[in-house]
Amino acid sequence: MTRIQMKTPLVEMDGDEMTRIMWNQIKDIVIHPFVDLKTEYFDLSLVNRDATDDQITIDSANRTRELGVAVKCATITPNAQRMDEYKLKEMWKSPNGTIRAILDGTVFRAPILVRGITPFVSVWKKPITIARHAYGDVYRDAEMEISGPAVAELVVTYPNGQTQIKRIHDFDGSGVLLGMHNTDRSIAAFARSCFRYAIDARQDLWFATKDTISKTYDHRFKDIFADVFETEYKALFDDAGIDYFYTLIDDVVARVMRSEGGFVWACKNYDGDVMSDMIASACGSLAMMTSVLVSPDGKYEYEAAHGTVTRHYYKHLRGESTSTNPMATLFAWTGALRKRAQLDGLSELEMFADLVEKVSIETIESGIITGDLNALLVHPDKKVVNTTDFLAAIASGLKKEG
Ligand code: NAP
Ligand code: MG
Repeated sequence: MTRIQMKTPLVEMDGDEMTRIMWNQIKDIVIHPFVDLKTEYFDLSLVNRDATDDQITIDSANRTRELGVAVKCATITPNAQRMDEYKLKEMWKSPNGTIRAILDGTVFRAPILVRGITPFVSVWKKPITIARHAYGDVYRDAEMEISGPAVAELVVTYPNGQTQIKRIHDFDGSGVLLGMHNTDRSIAAFARSCFRYAIDARQDLWFATKDTISKTYDHRFKDIFADVFETEYKALFDDAGIDYFYTLIDDVVARVMRSEGGFVWACKNYDGDVMSDMIASACGSLAMMTSVLVSPDGKYEYEAAHGTVTRHYYKHLRGESTSTNPMATLFAWTGALRKRAQLDGLSELEMFADLVEKVSIETIESGIITGDLNALLVHPDKKVVNTTDFLAAIASGLKKEG
């Protein structure tokens, strides 16, 4: 059998623990037999990040800027315990944070839906993709405790020494205060990533803020989105037959709960933090949540939404077989291969990516599952298998499809 050929390599970012084990299994069992895989390999394991003073992470992100499409394995973000465990030189920053800063991107998360696993919100029939703005607001704020009566003001100083001052509150006793910001540039980049993703996915884009209460801050988000849409994306949306819809955040939450899904929901930073956890848990399992970082100039980095599944890894190290769910990591590979195929005009590769997703969903629907899905899937004769056997079932489904 001849394997599918590629043109441009993917940027391959390897990672840690159980996901690193699954990474190789996915390539060996599901991809290599069918595709003559081309990648540029970057080892982002904690060991190698430490050895290269984290230069490897920066290099991989820069290469993604050049080649356009990356696929990333989950990686350990070190904490005090990992410092000991890996005898690190430094407590290296989160690789995802580093990559996001270099690509200036927005993260899109969508659940993989299968028949037999009903979302807790029973009207949801299609996935809802959350696009979370990953910069500013309460995540980059300055906070203060006020110990007694005081006047609080916002003060802005320009380079020429001019100041702008606004009264916040006259405190008659103790209290708390918070100052936060965002930039027009970051909001516009966020808007462009969202419009671009919606066009790719051929899905409507919903966006909401609290502009009735926050008449300057949130209103700026609304205005920038409207402006970018009108000047750059309206015609493309018309061509794709999709809509941009803006409303208030409380209204959108009510609408989401009554919708059948199938749209992209752009959220300000805090809203996205909260709502992506809601969507993930309503759809069942973190192991079924995909994630892609999209930069405003159209670079893509695909990954799973979950971490390195440490508990399963220690089991694996003890020689026990584990039933870790590879779906989200597998979909990171198919997402990256499909995007690469579209950019390079490789229809066979694009069909392969679609087929892998279809067959892996059918595998679960046929009752062959990993342990995490056992409590979720309703099926008369389910069979819980280990990760290798689950991937082998997908590969055998692929062979049957020819
Ligand atoms: P996690 O790796 O997502 O795992 C949390 C728990 O969720 C697991 O113990 C497991 O539950 C379940 N789970 C997650 N993915 C699963 C899968 N594919 N199949 C089956 N079960 C799955 O999160 P964590 O334990 O908080 O973090 C572990 C490490 O991952 C940390 O070092 C963290 O820094 C890193 N992390 C990396 C990323 C990233 O690279 N994007 C994201 C998050 C965390 P049971 O144990 O009950 O089976
Ligand atoms: Mg959260």
